[in-house]
Amino acid sequence: MRNTALRVDARKPMKRRIQQIIQRLSENNIAAIYAENRSEALEVVMSMIPEGSVVGFGDSLTLRQIGTVDLLEKGNYTFLNPWKPGINVDESIMLKKQALTSDVFVTGTNALTTDGKIVNVDGHGNRVAAMLFGPDKVILVIGINKIVENIDEALRRIRDESAPLNVKRHPNWDPLPPCGTTGVCEDCSSPWRICNKTVIIERQYDNDRYKPIITVVIVGEELGI
Ligand code: SF4
Repeated sequence: MRNTALRVDARKPMKRRIQQIIQRLSENNIAAIYAENRSEALEVVMSMIPEGSVVGFGDSLTLRQIGTVDLLEKGNYTFLNPWKPGINVDESIMLKKQALTSDVFVTGTNALTTDGKIVNVDGHGNRVAAMLFGPDKVILVIGINKIVENIDEALRRIRDESAPLNVKRHPNWDPLPPCGTTGVCEDCSSPWRICNKTVIIERQYDNDRYKPIITVVIVGEELGI
């Protein structure tokens, strides 16, 4: 009983921090929703995707973990999954291109700063491209482990923590970028380097002509890498 109380208390500062981030995002015309856990996050995400939609996907462990990918594969959607088993490179690139004009684009994000900036580093660039322009709606899902203080910390986390782990998810890459073996970024020139394109989203339009497209779903548990 005492342990439970301590756990609840420990979460309070994080919840306050998340409320502040949601406020900052909203000031920058970026909608944000808090979901307590992955099942709530799944409900929130699916409620934002109308049946029959063309749905683009930027590879994301977080989206897989909360169950979105499974539901999109099985449901009444045209799900553009460039990582679907069995498809070839040309088909994968075509799906990435089609995602740029999808009805809804879903993916994760690498880091979110406490002042509401969304930080992403991509290898190919398809994921960040679709976040910026093209789809009518973009849904970004992020676990609390990716909340950082500022952009410097975001970039450090991406290079020193998440990129090496992401490289390790692709043991078939030949040659594997060095961080996949050493766990340390060597600012490599590998043909499989995953840190090629850095995008920081600070704000989006909300005016007579252009409406905001991004919604961030912050999940109160650790997700992705
Ligand atoms: S630049 Fe290369 S070594 Fe550094 S994190 Fe990216 S892929 Fe790994």
